[in-house]
Parts: sequence; structure tokens; C-alpha cells
Amino acid sequence: MEKAQKIIVVHYHEIGLKGKNRGYFEEALRQNIVKSLDKAGVKYSRVARLSGRIVVYPDKDPEENEQKIAKELNYIFGIAYFSFGWQVSADLEKIEKALEEILIERLSAYGGKNSPARFDEPKTRRAKTFRISAKRSDKKFPLTSEEINQKVGECIIENFQFSIFNFQLKVNLKNPDINCFIEITQDGAFLYFEKIKALGGLPVGVSGKVLSLISSGFDSPVAAWHIMKRGARVDFVHFHSYPRTSKASVNNVKELVKILNNYQSRVLGILYLVPLLGIQREVFSKCEAKYRIILYRRFMFRIAERLAEKIGAGVLVTGESLGQVASQTLENIKAASAAISIPVFRPLIGTDKEEIINEAKKIGTYDISSQPYEDCCSLFTPAHPETRARISAVEAEEQKLDIEKLTEEAMEKTEKVEFKN
Ligand code: ATP
Ligand code: MG
Repeated sequence: MEKAQKIIVVHYHEIGLKGKNRGYFEEALRQNIVKSLDKAGVKYSRVARLSGRIVVYPDKDPEENEQKIAKELNYIFGIAYFSFGWQVSADLEKIEKALEEILIERLSAYGGKNSPARFDEPKTRRAKTFRISAKRSDKKFPLTSEEINQKVGECIIENFQFSIFNFQLKVNLKNPDINCFIEITQDGAFLYFEKIKALGGLPVGVSGKVLSLISSGFDSPVAAWHIMKRGARVDFVHFHSYPRTSKASVNNVKELVKILNNYQSRVLGILYLVPLLGIQREVFSKCEAKYRIILYRRFMFRIAERLAEKIGAGVLVTGESLGQVASQTLENIKAASAAISIPVFRPLIGTDKEEIINEAKKIGTYDISSQPYEDCCSLFTPAHPETRARISAVEAEEQKLDIEKLTEEAMEKTEKVEFKN
């Protein structure tokens, strides 16, 4: 008798919609899964693209490994949900037999010391009702989905009636204790009982590379996460005022980048550290106080633009949210952007601080972002910053500075931090 093979079935929706790009997206997702599992040291025998799904074949010790695999899958963009399950040939009798065996094994383990992970949920422990939810992607299979539901359902009812169990399993379509999903594909039948929701989005890498301006505050790490979710690979740049400020902001940013890198399949985004102190001193001594912040920001953008060009990043990403602080008024955002020609993406522009903080908690950046730090932006800030900077006024201030020399100097002193696992 053919033994059902343990698998993890990975589903995605959005990629399925992408028409001719589908193969490319699927392969990117498959490779990201492989990279994540490899780098996390998780054992598996194969990760395969099968009939519009990605199937992970765990190695001999699936129970122990399953939790580790689930942990990794929960970090990978492009996965809508995944399921722990079994694979058998696409043959009705074999499906029925396998399902029966799995149910008997799982239900008899109820309360026992080997209570299996997903069946010892309180609800399924006392399982009395079930339903079959079949889906046939292989239209050559002789039965329709509805017919599979009926046939397999009847078989389960019958077998349990006369089995060693002195209880019956009854059908309940609306709210069953056990939902038996059966997918019939050209590559066999997949059986599973639970859909574990994952992050969604697109596989990191398919949308190209971006450069994220990251501080150790709440917003920019969340912004970087959002752009990753849409398939962008992210490198990072942080501006610091060391030694005028402590190394805390730099260290916090390093920790934040480590966390965010987990979401890029552990392919490690690079962090560039740029000293801003020289520029700040010049601006402080030569320019009108109320324009300082906007001038710093224009320098940050100029340097980031050059860096982006060097590393092949197509856009810059910031954590700005409209009106949140003086530098984030419509006029000031416009005045800062006018210094460069590369597009700037602001994924958080329409979000509230509270929403951002809640997301930071989910992503895992909250704790580090809440640590106090002295940011370069908090240095030399004027009491009354301009909130409606006119570009002509800003440019007049910049006449007092050697923009090119200052920008190049900062570029030359930029440090590159690469991360290891
Ligand atoms: P955050 O919570 O991300 O620090 P913020 O609310 O403090 O944002 P600002 O200080 O105006 O807002 O910064 C706006 C954006 O500019 C940040 O989201 C970030 O993308 C970028 N930025 C600010 N400071 C730095 C820095 N020191 N290095 C790199 N980028 C920075
Ligand atoms: Mg900040």
C-alpha cells in the first residue's frame, strides 16, 4: 500500500494572477523558500513547484522540523497561506485510504502523549463533525469536485461507523470540527486540514532593488517592510552625527536591519553609514536657522541618490507620513524632493502614528525603535523650523554652501556594513 508522504503545501494568490510572469514569480518564491530554510539550518529533502503550488518535502523528522519550517514561512513574502499535509497519488481509493488512516491516527492520539501538533487543538480534539472540501485542478480526473466530496465523505462516514471507534463522524458543512481539504493536481493529491495564514505580498526580488533611508525611529523600518512586501529588495542608508551624538542610533539601526533582513529571505541587505556632522556644522554656521532641517534633508536625499545610482537601486524609500512633523508638510516634502531627480517612495504617507506603531509591533521592530536615541535630526534643530519652505528661498540659502564638495566628502566617508547570518 502506498504510504502518504508528509508535505507542506504553500499557496499564493496574487502570483497566480500575473499571467505570463507567473513562472518567474513562482521560481523566485521557491528560491526564497530554499534560501530561508538553508540559512535557518532547517532540513528538508526538496522544495518543488507543482501544479501552481510550492511543495516542501521535510526530511525524516517532520514533527520537529515542522515548527522550524513554519517559522521561516511566516517571514516570506509571496505566501498567502500554507498547510501541513500529505501527498498521495490522484486516485480515489488511495485518497480515501490515506485520509482514513490519517484520521484514525490523529483521532486516536487524542489526549495521548503523542498528541500531534495540529490535531490537539481543543476544537478538533473532540472532533465529531467533518466536511470534505475538494478542488480539482486536474480536469482529467474522472470526478468533479462535488463528486469527490460526496464519495470521500460517504466513505469516511461508513468507515468510522464500523471502526474501532465507538463514535461517529457526521458531516457539517458550515462549521465542521475537521475540514479535510483535498486538492487533485496533475502531480498527485494533496490532503490537509488547516490553512495557516502567511504574509501575502510578492516574493522579495521580483520588483527590483530600492534604497531605504532608515533611522532608528518607528516609521522608516515599517516603511522598508512595506516596500519589501511588494517584492522589492532593500538596501539601507543611515545618516549619523557621530561623534557629536553617541553610537546608539547606529547600533539600533544595525539591529533593525537585522530584523528586516529576515523578511528578505535572509539575503542580507547592506547598510551604508554616512557621517552628516560636517554638513550639519556648515549649515549651522552659514545658513538661516529656520531652514536647517530642510537643508539637512536635501543633503540626505542628494547623498542617497548618488548611493542608489552606485548600487543599482531605482528609488529611495522614506518613512514620512504627511503632516507628522514640521519637515513633513506638503511644502517641505516638495522642497526636499526638489533637490533630486530619483523618485522617492513613501509607503506610510497616509498612515497614522498609531497604525505605524501597531505594525512595528507585528514586524518585530517596536522594541528597538522605542529605545531612546539621539538622532542626527535632533541635533542643531531650530526652535521654529520653517514649515512652508519655498524652494527659491531654500536654494538661496544653499548658495552659501559648497554643495558638491560637501556631498562628495560625505560619500567618501561612507561606511559599508555587511551582515552575516
Ligand atoms: P522615523 O520614525 O522613521 O525616524 P520620523 O517620524 O522621525 O521618522 P523624520 O525625522 O522627519 O521623521 O524623518 C523622515 C524620514 O527621513 C524617516 O522616516 C527616514 O526615512 C528618513 N530619515 C530621518 N532621519 C534619518 C537618518 N538619520 N538616517 C537616514 N534616514 C533618515
Ligand atoms: Mg526619526
